Amino acid sequence: MEPIRLELPTGLDVGPVNVYLFRQPEPVLVDAGLKSPASWEALQFGLAEHNLTVMDISRVIITHPHIDHFGQAGTITANSDADVWICELGVDWLTEPADMWERRLEYYRREFLHAVGFDPLIIEAIVGSMKVIADQSDPIPRERIHTFPPTGILQMGGMAWQILHTPGHSSAQTCFYQPETRQLLSADMLLQTTPTPVVERPLHAADRIPALPQFMQSLDRVAALELEAVYPGHGRPFGPRFHLDHHAIIQKQRDRIQQRKAECLVHIQQGAHTPAALVDKLYAHHPPQFRFAGLWMLIGYLDLLLADGVIRQESSSGVWHYYSMED
Ligand SMILES: [Zn+2]
Repeated sequence: MEPIRLELPTGLDVGPVNVYLFRQPEPVLVDAGLKSPASWEALQFGLAEHNLTVMDISRVIITHPHIDHFGQAGTITANSDADVWICELGVDWLTEPADMWERRLEYYRREFLHAVGFDPLIIEAIVGSMKVIADQSDPIPRERIHTFPPTGILQMGGMAWQILHTPGHSSAQTCFYQPETRQLLSADMLLQTTPTPVVERPLHAADRIPALPQFMQSLDRVAALELEAVYPGHGRPFGPRFHLDHHAIIQKQRDRIQQRKAECLVHIQQGAHTPAALVDKLYAHHPPQFRFAGLWMLIGYLDLLLADGVIRQESSSGVWHYYSMED
């Protein structure tokens, strides 16, 4: 059985988000969309096309705790008996989304955005623009939430799907792979364009997790799967069944990352030493308000260069500076 794609509006730069429906043996949704009147209407319309209502949904499986994927899960549980499933790492985002946002924004405001070298006015503008996002989800009661382990099996659509924990875009990113039919619900791990490695608040005073190196490892794992069909979190399905080779998509993303990483090193060697200065070099063609996703990618390139041992990081007044090992 193939998952049925329902495309829901988000109003975000990322465009619409896909939620996937399995009708039998019980109606299951993979992801829930963002909480908004337009998204709610589109979900009800999409379900009605398959003779279902929100009340019929028995389970909602969340691929990762980003607002466009889980935001509407609270509305679904309030209007049905559905339970919500997510990996252990993502639970707090479902039960206390506003607190989790507040904590991430505090980390951005107090530490991260200073460390990259932005000035206070830009920091307040970025944090202010991110604040509105916190309203686009409702908390879900803990007793309605179940967790799945990083590896294991989940039943959906009468088939056994392997759980694949694939951190990178999100530390809690999960994909689901069905080996007999060679189908992958790839969420935001594998899209037709490279997903951004979102910088997260470090847990328990640990160091920040280098998200792009993690993403590259996850990409290797996904590339090794036998795939007929890839059902992504955004955009149209691809893979051999859709006459769009996923290996070419993966290779293009790898090549682009390697190329941009090399450009980043050249700019460091030419005297751009802070992330803020490097964003201006690498994303000069983007207007300032769109450079934020660029910053996440840039931090990823720096993490890759650090892992390669070709640059070193030093802190000066709390601002990260990067130098070529050859300097
Ligand atoms: Zn997404």
